[in-house]
Amino acid sequence: MTRFIFITGGVVSSLGKGIASAALGTLLQARGYKVRLRKLDPYLNVDPGTMSPTQHGEVFVTDDGAETDLDLGHYERFTGVSSRQSDNVTSGRIYSTVIAKERHGDYLGGTVQVIPHVTDEIKDFIRADLHGEDFCLCEIGGTVGDIESLPFLEAIRQLRNEEGTENCLFIHVTLLPFMKSAGELKTKPTQHSVKELLSVGIQPEILLCRAERSIPENERKKIALFCNVKLECVIEALDVETIYNVPVKYHEQGFDEEVVKYFKLPTEPKPNLKPWMDIVKRIREPEGEVTIAIVGKYTSLLDSYKSLSEALTHGGTANNVKVNLKWLDSQVFETPDAMHHLEGVDGILVPGGFGERGTEGKIKAAQFARENKIPYFGICFGMQLAVIEAARNLGGVPKATSSEFGPSDHAVIGLMTEWTKGDQLEVRKSNGDLGGTMRLGAYPCKLAKGTKVYEIYGTELIHERHRHRYEVNITYRPQFEKAGLVFAGMSPDGQLPEIVERRDHPWFIGVQFHPELKSKPLDPHPLFKSFIAAAVQKSRLV
Ligand code: GLN
Repeated sequence: MTRFIFITGGVVSSLGKGIASAALGTLLQARGYKVRLRKLDPYLNVDPGTMSPTQHGEVFVTDDGAETDLDLGHYERFTGVSSRQSDNVTSGRIYSTVIAKERHGDYLGGTVQVIPHVTDEIKDFIRADLHGEDFCLCEIGGTVGDIESLPFLEAIRQLRNEEGTENCLFIHVTLLPFMKSAGELKTKPTQHSVKELLSVGIQPEILLCRAERSIPENERKKIALFCNVKLECVIEALDVETIYNVPVKYHEQGFDEEVVKYFKLPTEPKPNLKPWMDIVKRIREPEGEVTIAIVGKYTSLLDSYKSLSEALTHGGTANNVKVNLKWLDSQVFETPDAMHHLEGVDGILVPGGFGERGTEGKIKAAQFARENKIPYFGICFGMQLAVIEAARNLGGVPKATSSEFGPSDHAVIGLMTEWTKGDQLEVRKSNGDLGGTMRLGAYPCKLAKGTKVYEIYGTELIHERHRHRYEVNITYRPQFEKAGLVFAGMSPDGQLPEIVERRDHPWFIGVQFHPELKSKPLDPHPLFKSFIAAAVQKSRLV
């Protein structure tokens, strides 16, 4: 039987609820339990796929092709459990399902309402697709008190009545702001936030209190008294220097212990957190450092590249070095004499992206890396632009471009209208909807023997996650080969180039997929490990 844990947030947004949920999942897992983590988002987009990365942060893609909230990335990185489509839902999806059912006549004769129809749909989502998990942790997006979250709060209130109090736990994450003038942490916003929850019938059992300094005993007592929770259940959650220290820190505060006690489960044996301690030690005590330039478009909100920066950190810990990230807006390279920004870096990475703005700058960065033998990692768009660069400057296609930027007779990157997934034919129309119409999710890729990637992965068949509309146009193969590009990875049917690399360069790899989505602190992705190793090598040469 699956027990449910609901995590809500109060006072302000950006409290780190996602990390808190992921850390609790990790702790329960380290106690031997099977966990699943889910995110319920109150916004009206059907999924975050159509939102701007600079507004909402990265879109995390699952193996089964769902475009989801970036918190699912944290869940996977911490617990190693691959997320599924059924682990992220939004109000938009819930409402569109309810409305589709109404049109279909499923509620015939009834008035369709938030309670019970919308709340029923939310409860169905929470209970769906569970397979013997001991715990299902559901994080409710947004902040308690938002209009949009109300149906979700009402649904989890009902669900607790249906499943039984002993099988459901409410955890509320709050903030204790520090008032300099008073010289103390303030508990009032937490009290108000809990009151807000109580007004919708939810009494949280555990409060995870984020604070920048230690919470004095007196304040903890005050919170316990006013918020009607046990003193031991007022958990101090201080800021930490690396997110990978969160499980250990929360454990020290008794977080997981209170959770298992609530469910009347044994508190012994304690979880083994040694692997996490090791990671933290490696992050704290690196033996050297390298600097990687990331040339992208969404550098104003670093959450847009969350998985990427985490994967680079993992590549660093695997090599015992600190990875300094130098974020560069690609548009700077469209001005003269801008190349000095790239001088002295140990590696250049061009990440995924959409649209023409800033692309010429990324192309220049790829050229600079190629000519100066600086390790280059092109991810998705970063691969496509490196291919355009090679075709233009070496392959005899001076006008090479992508059909993403408008119709052209020189589209070395083009729109594929049909491809196969397993034994199914997928079809894409050039004028179709933009939402959910990309090549999404895990696809197999066959690596060519004798290539660098074959050596890096150490296997012939890999599976990586995709999220893109355009593909390298294989009909230009002779020109690409003339430009020195090696097709190191192809889709098994031989139609879609998935990896290109250069033989005349110490480390120049472009991948059509997003390897950063699968990298984990306890299991760094081989490409990131190898890229940072190449950067270390480069840094020693100078
Ligand atoms: N814009 C490119 C495409 O749609 C690349 C997408 C990406 O980098 N994720 O194919």
